[in-house]
Amino acid sequence: MTKQPTKQRSKLVVGNWKMHGRLAANAALLEAVARGVQALPADVRVGVCVPFPYLAQTQALLGGSRVVWGAQDVSAHEQGAYTGEVAAGMVADFEAGFAIVGHSERRAYHGESSEVVAQKAQRALAVRLTPIVCVGETLEERESGATERVVGAQLDAVLAALSVEEAACIVVAYEPVWAIGTGKSATSEQAQQVHAFLRARLAAKGAQVADVPLLYGGSVKPENAAELFRQADIDGGLIGGASLKEGDFLAICAAAAAGARVAG
Ligand code: PEP
Repeated sequence: MTKQPTKQRSKLVVGNWKMHGRLAANAALLEAVARGVQALPADVRVGVCVPFPYLAQTQALLGGSRVVWGAQDVSAHEQGAYTGEVAAGMVADFEAGFAIVGHSERRAYHGESSEVVAQKAQRALAVRLTPIVCVGETLEERESGATERVVGAQLDAVLAALSVEEAACIVVAYEPVWAIGTGKSATSEQAQQVHAFLRARLAAKGAQVADVPLLYGGSVKPENAAELFRQADIDGGLIGGASLKEGDFLAICAAAAAGARVAG
């Protein structure tokens, strides 16, 4: 049998600052990241998702750089009497490129269902933000063999709400809940297995959806990034804790550059 060449997809590394940051510290971090990514090859894309109040600062500091910025959530509503919520259109006003939707912390602490996550993805797409749709299983679900059923259902709810053209514009992040902020990353084999499953699910929606970026998230560090990014279906990472340290974040971005070369 002839060996099929591995399909080359560019790598994407996105920082999720969560509820961290203050003006002075942000400035130092953003400037260091913008400087550091200049050395990366063009096939590595980098983003940072910051708390809403810092979108203006981020736009001012990253405008003209290679780094794309975004928010960590958007409302499922377009506008209206929804005190405390932030509409996707408001995020887009700051020239943002990304909006994380369905992070496990939103699902767990704010009761977000997959249907709400799907609405948020639609709101983001409607204003040309790329939704980074997070899916992931708990430890209990993994141990009971339910990983594929859980992440499949989370992804399907979003895909069902989108046209093929819209679905081709999303990013998916596989983030096992048991690996987020715990220091315990999935092994590259565990992650690749789930990514291959998600890739097949995306392909079933339509050929143009098969190649949407599939990020891994959950305790990615400079020490484990290269091995994860070397996997055929891991197109980069969604990085929490390590995105707050410029050295670690840039080292992870550099590991993505190495992973892009291996995949090619
Ligand atoms: C996250 O919150 O998206 C995440 C991946 O966190 P951490 O890297 O800290 O595990």
